[in-house]
Amino acid sequence: MEIGFYGAAQTVTGSLFVITLNSSHSKKKILIDSGLFQDGGIIKHNQLPGDLKPEEIEAVLLTHAHLDHTGRLPILVANPSKTKRFAGEIFATAPTQDLTQIVLNDCSFLMEEEVERRKKKYGEDIKPLYTEEHVARIMRRFTQPVEYNKPVDIIPGVVRATYFNAGHILGASSIRLEIDDGRAKVITFSGDIGNDGKPFIDDPVFPQTSDFVVEECTYGDRNHKPIDLSTAEFYSIIRETFNRSGNVFIPAFAIERTQEILYFIKQGIKSNEIPKDTKVFLDSPMAIEATSVFNRYPEFYSQKAQELIRSGYSLFDFETLQFSRTPADSKAINEVKGGAIIIAGSGMCNGGRILHHMKHNLGREECSFIFLNYAPPGSLPRQIVEKKFRAGNGTEYIRIYGFDIPIRAQIHTINGFSAHAGQRKLLEWAEHTENPQKIFLAHGSEKPMQTFAGELKARGFNVEMPEQNQTFRI
Ligand SMILES: [Zn+2]
Repeated sequence: MEIGFYGAAQTVTGSLFVITLNSSHSKKKILIDSGLFQDGGIIKHNQLPGDLKPEEIEAVLLTHAHLDHTGRLPILVANPSKTKRFAGEIFATAPTQDLTQIVLNDCSFLMEEEVERRKKKYGEDIKPLYTEEHVARIMRRFTQPVEYNKPVDIIPGVVRATYFNAGHILGASSIRLEIDDGRAKVITFSGDIGNDGKPFIDDPVFPQTSDFVVEECTYGDRNHKPIDLSTAEFYSIIRETFNRSGNVFIPAFAIERTQEILYFIKQGIKSNEIPKDTKVFLDSPMAIEATSVFNRYPEFYSQKAQELIRSGYSLFDFETLQFSRTPADSKAINEVKGGAIIIAGSGMCNGGRILHHMKHNLGREECSFIFLNYAPPGSLPRQIVEKKFRAGNGTEYIRIYGFDIPIRAQIHTINGFSAHAGQRKLLEWAEHTENPQKIFLAHGSEKPMQTFAGELKARGFNVEMPEQNQTFRI
């Protein structure tokens, strides 16, 4: 068989791996994830590779719902010709299915915006890669939800998959593939591996013995601070900002990160770490919708969180929380000058309502912005954190919506809330695969990947760092 790397190869987005079987089966390709590249405009960078024909794909196995793992799915069914569309099945856990729908609808909306913007600005005549109609079409290809630790037949007698908890976001999985297309092999895909000690989902489950492994290495070069140090820092930033009569702004991903922040804020209010009357605005329709999915699947929470819920405790809801659904709701937040926390999309600050808050508040020295995500080189958060732009008079500024915005607010980064495992955990995870013939590293930019590869090699592993579109016979 062959394994091909069509995304997340020497980069952190666009996860898409292809297994091509040696069988006489007419449709013999299996995809693991079908994610979007997020470094640049969506439409230009996300065509399917030419040699990947959707009609030849038997099945897609999703590790989790994040856009960089699901965003290219609807392209598989977007061809006007029925015979050139993907007609197989998609396997995923129940939360992944529901969250994927939210993520894909949002992405089709972002593409409409991109089309409009480029028409206006450059007079380009471009089309979105897919629309809501294609999203609805791809959602019909999902099978009954997959459960953790219960093997499912992908191609009976040839391919069997076992999903197990990756500890990354609700329903996120690593996948163990047992394939017998003449030569029996076990390949384990890590998906995104979570950080230990997350507030309401269990730590990642370790893999079993494997012949081949595809492992993520987003944070292959560092370890995170313990989570309680990070929450203490989080509460202290909030208190200090409120003492200056400012607001705290948090750019956040709609899925998991937002719910974690709500959870920690609620804990902070309960334990008097932050004031009881702290106003909290969830300024993201997508995050509001995602939170309702989280409330739907408590069986995917840790035992501890499930017990809390059984005792009548709501993990994410509290009295001073307000949902800002409409643009008018969002605009009204501008009138609240201090004592509030505003959580807004997008986490990468490449669109969404957070940009408006930045435009209005980065120049206010009493306010704080807290960045909690990995910020790839060149991204807006990275530029702000590194204060790359200095005007002649010494003022640092950033360009948003064509305006030069001075950076006077306090800028903070807290990495301990990371949804990804640090180096120590990634190594431990790899060691549980025993003695694989090869570990392919994916989902990492150059420095973390090189560092992690060095650590693995020092422990005797055979490591490969595939390039985009590279395939291997295994
Ligand atoms: Zn992820």
